[in-house]
Amino acid sequence: MQGKIIKGIAGFYYVDVAESGIYECKAKGIFRKEKKKPLVGDNVEIEVLDEKEKIGNLIQILPRKNELIRPAAANVDQALVIFAVRQPDPNYQLLDRFLIAMEQQEIPSIICFNKKDLAEQKELDQMYQIYSSCGYQVLLTSAEQEKGISRIRKILEGKTTVVAGPSGVGKSSLTNLLQEEVSMETGEISKKLKRGRHTTRHAQLLTVGEHTYLMDTPGFSSLFVEGMEKEELRFHYPEFAEYEGKCRFQGCVHVHEPECAVKQAVEKGKIHRQRYENYVSFYEELKEQEKRRY
Ligand code: GDP
Ligand code: ZN
Repeated sequence: MQGKIIKGIAGFYYVDVAESGIYECKAKGIFRKEKKKPLVGDNVEIEVLDEKEKIGNLIQILPRKNELIRPAAANVDQALVIFAVRQPDPNYQLLDRFLIAMEQQEIPSIICFNKKDLAEQKELDQMYQIYSSCGYQVLLTSAEQEKGISRIRKILEGKTTVVAGPSGVGKSSLTNLLQEEVSMETGEISKKLKRGRHTTRHAQLLTVGEHTYLMDTPGFSSLFVEGMEKEELRFHYPEFAEYEGKCRFQGCVHVHEPECAVKQAVEKGKIHRQRYENYVSFYEELKEQEKRRY
């Protein structure tokens, strides 16, 4: 039987098998011998030892599509990063850092601005514009007024999505709305998982539909990948791509060089100034880190 590891604690792995339920499994010795550690998100083959008690053994890890370092997980399809339009105001530096970390791990990000009930349409349009012009999918939602929820649900369907964002932006409110339907179908399972949710700080998956999982991330700031080469940073800005190679100097990092196509695009309003300014400050940060290393 095949399923997905949604949680792992103290040598036990909880495996969600569609239409059948959650099995508590142990990894057999072969894993230890092969030094292969099962990860949350792994698709696995299990053998059932007790169907009534839902107990089994992990017997095989199926090939991984990818492996994230932070958070530690396998087979992540995408990331949903949530900020509020107000209360708290969005911290764009933090948002850009998150996007870079995901770009670096080749995970596509979707940006959700929640609490849209707290801002004017004009402001919402601006937020939408900054990031959709970089090529990101941007959602505007209100958990309070239950607006934009079906759109999120569609985007999540059939996928495993890392959810991140600072506290207070409405992550739990949105997650609860997304889980409502599932809870009605499989009340017992959700209860089991919710209980676990408060007792562990490990990464785990929440089931929000068949083959549809959300991954809670235990702490937003821990997601940032360190030790990136400063010359690599520019490749994690999708909106720079069309200008790459068009600057006067080969290998231009778009900071102090003259006749830089990226800087010209910023002047023309084709690249958002705020994004560019964050780029420069991250670049300087990486440069400082590098100096300290030597
Ligand atoms: P989390 O820390 O990101 O999980 O945020 P919560 O879901 O706990 O929400 C934080 C606060 O924001 C709570 O008081 C929610 O009622 C409120 N909140 C969540 N979503 C919305 C929304 O769309 N609009 C408004 N006005 N308040 C919201
Ligand atoms: Zn340049």
